[in-house]
Amino acid sequence: MITDSHGRYVSYIRLSVTDRCNLKCFYCRTDCAESFIDHEHILSYEEMLRLVKAAQTMQVRKLRLTGGEPFVRKDFLAFLGMLKEECPELDVRVTTNGTLLGGKIPALKHLGVQRINISLDTLNRDRFTKITGRDFHDRVMRAIEDCLHYGLTVKINAVAMKGVNDDEIGAFTRFARDYPVDVRFIEFMPIGGCSHWKREYTLPASDILDRAREEADLTPIERHADTDGPARLYSIDGGTGRLGVISALSDHFCDTCNRLRITSDGRLRTCLFSDKEYRLRPILRSPKLDDEALLRVMTRATLSKPLGYKLLEHLQGNSVCSKVMSSIGG
Ligand code: SAM
Repeated sequence: MITDSHGRYVSYIRLSVTDRCNLKCFYCRTDCAESFIDHEHILSYEEMLRLVKAAQTMQVRKLRLTGGEPFVRKDFLAFLGMLKEECPELDVRVTTNGTLLGGKIPALKHLGVQRINISLDTLNRDRFTKITGRDFHDRVMRAIEDCLHYGLTVKINAVAMKGVNDDEIGAFTRFARDYPVDVRFIEFMPIGGCSHWKREYTLPASDILDRAREEADLTPIERHADTDGPARLYSIDGGTGRLGVISALSDHFCDTCNRLRITSDGRLRTCLFSDKEYRLRPILRSPKLDDEALLRVMTRATLSKPLGYKLLEHLQGNSVCSKVMSSIGG
């Protein structure tokens, strides 16, 4: 287990399997000329598996597969099968927009995925189409229902944006009260070149909670970093689900950050807010280098993991880093 210079150790990797997505959320992808990573630069599933196994020797216990949209990548379920077979101890989770889950949920369960995060910023169909550019709201709602039907644990992540969906905080709170799901509001973060982020859009977690409290009584729940991640969670009086806030800006959680991110072309990022990357693909593809070399770089990266809130202090304009969220993976 490697402890970084701030006393944190890494036990969690977020691996983006593709930078492509079938939605075009205005706040995530940007108006900048659309460019995707060339296919030959995307890691093969075998290369990803090798990385994950190396990470396991560093005591990484949890893997989140993300994107882009992970389900747009061909044979994604087969990759989950490889992970189940080769890394049975690993806690594998998936973050998805839910639009391509139709018919796949029993298979996911069979492949050992117990928990799924579904991103959904609105409960309103027309607004969904406006935010994402696609009329897929019904698909997502059906996917949530199906996940619950098959006994998967569902977390819904909604980016809270003033003037975009803040009038739905009450509706989301009722949703979490009526269904056994965690609804977590994420503060809108200044990520990506040409980002649409503006301070006027941001809604601090304290305001989100105030609005939710107009709908229901909330009681704070003790936080378990392993299962709750950076979310502060609340039980809802008389409800089945829970409400959470992820306050990346207004109340940072850098001291508990236990994660590394790997992009689909094999770049290791130690902080969401930093553009510093460690290139793993050349090591994976070199016939002369073995897993020791991978581990050396991953260890060096972990040791110099920064404190993101300090990077945010230098925010100029509307983005703290140049890469868009859809290619980092959230
Ligand atoms: N396609 C998958 C999905 O929709 O969950 C995975 C990738 S997506 C980039 C991961 C998460 O990042 C989504 O919940 C999305 O809403 C969130 N996200 C994107 N841009 C963001 C931003 N600027 N601030 C906060 N969250 C953001």
